[in-house]
Amino acid sequence: MYDVVVAGGSISGLLAAREIAKNGYSVLVLEEGFEVGSPEHCGGLVSKNALKELGIEPSQKTFDSEIERAKIFSPGGKEITINSEKQKIIVINRRELDKQAARQARDNGAEISVKTSFQEKIKNGVKTSNGNLECKFFVDCRGVSRLVNKDRNGILLTAQYEVYADWIKKGQVEVYFDQEKYPEFFAWIIPSGEGVGKIGVSGKGINTITKMDEFLKSKGDFSTIRKIFAPIWIKGPIKNFVENNTIIVGDAAGQAKPTTAGGIFSCGMAGVMAGNAISEALEKNDSSLLMNYEKRWKEKFGKEFEKQNLARKILARLDNDTVNKLFNSITPEIEEDISNKEDFDFHTSSILRLLGMKGSFNTMQALIGGEIKRLVQSKA
Ligand SMILES: Cc1cc2nc3c(=O)[nH]c(=O)nc-3n(C[C@H](O)[C@H](O)[C@H](O)COP(=O)(O)OP(=O)(O)OC[C@H]3O[C@@H](n4cnc5c(N)ncnc54)[C@H](O)[C@@H]3O)c2cc1C
Repeated sequence: MYDVVVAGGSISGLLAAREIAKNGYSVLVLEEGFEVGSPEHCGGLVSKNALKELGIEPSQKTFDSEIERAKIFSPGGKEITINSEKQKIIVINRRELDKQAARQARDNGAEISVKTSFQEKIKNGVKTSNGNLECKFFVDCRGVSRLVNKDRNGILLTAQYEVYADWIKKGQVEVYFDQEKYPEFFAWIIPSGEGVGKIGVSGKGINTITKMDEFLKSKGDFSTIRKIFAPIWIKGPIKNFVENNTIIVGDAAGQAKPTTAGGIFSCGMAGVMAGNAISEALEKNDSSLLMNYEKRWKEKFGKEFEKQNLARKILARLDNDTVNKLFNSITPEIEEDISNKEDFDFHTSSILRLLGMKGSFNTMQALIGGEIKRLVQSKA
């Protein structure tokens, strides 16, 4: 008998367990994989502020490198450069980050069981691959896989390869927009060091393997040392985070950014908030307090995610010609302005600056005026 059983031993599940155990309640984390943190399917891009708020100081093993700039390319090849030093973004080794979170959960008294999968909820508990367990609350942190079965519309497939190549520059993230090659998304390079990094492609309805091969060939010589294929969810949070005594957290609840699918921060924070609300509910023996989790998460991320969703929908409607025009109207002043922002985790104001202001505004107004207006207005 546990107070809480968590399905999913990744960032959201482990941080939820850490908080529950810290508050003195019994909690077991079930991880279906052989190892916490594996198979890793993450670019590892995260801000230092985010990690601080999650209560994780990256260890030497976890920290890979610091990001100095992002280069963003239009379909026509125009590039803009954003200096990202103010945003204090780092690349972490995700496998190690999850292990650090597991260590914190364990040190506070949580139990973790790998190679054990959650199968279904049963009366007073859960059925697992190792038998039935009783629990008061069940936390579902199974990642995007939970949503794949519920709603395929918000899912994009990604390919992300780990690659050795001279053209991967330490400290430089690269993002490539092309609505024909990667409709509604983009291709990316995330360096973990000089000459080594993760290359990704994603887009609606594309064959990610073919697009990845084409992208890599266009860059020059390389060797691939690891290939990962994983779904991402880009439609924002699901409606209800709490269903009876089940609490849905992290990617399983659609809590990654709709613009980039980055979720270490927002999913990790969801874990922290869920863990605390569950502890409150246990302490007062009052399940209605579980709703504090949904309320707090929506207060922190709700508005920003709505705006990101809208920005993504706008991007989805643009053709390459329009994207090229937009890039051409981005002045060095706008680049500098965005470089001076510190909003990696809440970045719609930078997107607004790129989409809506200065020269580009008129083009965009003419094309999709209504949606832009809603985005600008929702800033208030
Ligand atoms: C290609 C790619 C690149 C990304 N890059 C970044 C990035 O650079 N920065 C960033 O912030 N985010 C990034 N993300 C997103 C980030 O990885 C996720 O948002 C984050 O991992 C979500 O954490 P989670 O704990 O909610 O779910 P997950 O990390 O998906 O973990 C779910 C866990 O549940 C386990 N599980 C599933 N089913 C069961 C079951 N039945 N029983 C027991 N266990 C189960 C899985 O094995 C897994 O360990 C990326 C995602 C992808 C796919």
